[in-house]
Amino acid sequence: MTFKAISASRIFDGQDYHVNAALVWKDDTIHSIVPISDLGANIEVEHFSDALICPGFIDLQVNGGGGVMFNNDITPSGISTICSAHRKHGTAHLLPTLISSTPANIQQALNATEHGLQDKEPGLLGIHLEGPWLNKNKKGAHDSNLFYAPTIKELELFHWPSQAPILVTAAVEKLEIETLQWLLEKSVTISCGHSNATSAQLYDKLSYINGFTHLFNAMSPLEGREPGVVGAALNSDSAWCSIITDGIHVHPQNVLLSYKSKPKGKLIIVTDAMATVGSEQLSFELDGEEISVKDNKLVNSNGSLAGAHIGMDDSIANVISWGIPENEALRMASTYPAEAIKQMNLGKLHTGYRASATILNSNYKTQSVLVDGILY
Ligand SMILES: [Zn+2]
Repeated sequence: MTFKAISASRIFDGQDYHVNAALVWKDDTIHSIVPISDLGANIEVEHFSDALICPGFIDLQVNGGGGVMFNNDITPSGISTICSAHRKHGTAHLLPTLISSTPANIQQALNATEHGLQDKEPGLLGIHLEGPWLNKNKKGAHDSNLFYAPTIKELELFHWPSQAPILVTAAVEKLEIETLQWLLEKSVTISCGHSNATSAQLYDKLSYINGFTHLFNAMSPLEGREPGVVGAALNSDSAWCSIITDGIHVHPQNVLLSYKSKPKGKLIIVTDAMATVGSEQLSFELDGEEISVKDNKLVNSNGSLAGAHIGMDDSIANVISWGIPENEALRMASTYPAEAIKQMNLGKLHTGYRASATILNSNYKTQSVLVDGILY
């Protein structure tokens, strides 16, 4: 018997709170949550005083960390550095996110993800391809020279890993319905982003969209006579929206507005973090351009926002300070992203789920992270 446990004054299992309780797991699977007083003497237990144990954070959009940009180090070792840097901020699992790049680099990223998953790289969940199938008018920090509208033939040239969850951000107005259908048949999750679509352009494509990428940022705005992508995203009951909650990309009031508009489970916190997170490094290069931290913002040479300099724990602390209840904030970083990419054995601390948890102190700073049964 190799049961292990962590205990704390509070455990939130994704649904309910447990006071003075312990999370017990065996190998990489959750066994139970029990009162601390019921723990057997032969169980190896680590106690975190004045702490909260919650489902491990899942970040669907991570461009870099620990001084590494995925775009500049498209290897399993680059992924490993990024996952380890984000554990310092409570992230148990993440999707390394490739910013628009060449078809050769996309293939390399798919391969690195497949190899990383085969080698059980701790924290690696799948991959997020953010472009290059985007709209030039909403390019953000991407190099629009790389953008194109792929045909099915072009997509068929990639070797798509069959086991890895794959999230694609695309400007759906640029893709034919047949192409969206093809991606869905490949079990790719489609998120509309870097899109300048009108509501009319989105109308017949909405049923092919699973989500919307970084709501409000790099998408056509909501206006009185034109709902734009923002309006479509807020108005959809089925599609989720990811949102950056650093207080810089989206005004806190717009985060609260989205929280009130979307059905429960359909608003997800992402960091959109870059290489500077979990690192002393304050600048890095993207497509030959210097991006650096100025006043906690990551900006390129024109002063445009280029990703975020924040971890998951601070993102959660922010939304709680803005008025979102703690249990919902925690679900927005764990249960809901797991559901968004159909990882139904993650995002809750329930029996039989993967043993992944985040341990926070009373200020929501990360104390420790459990990833598939290993405590970091
Ligand atoms: Zn983006």
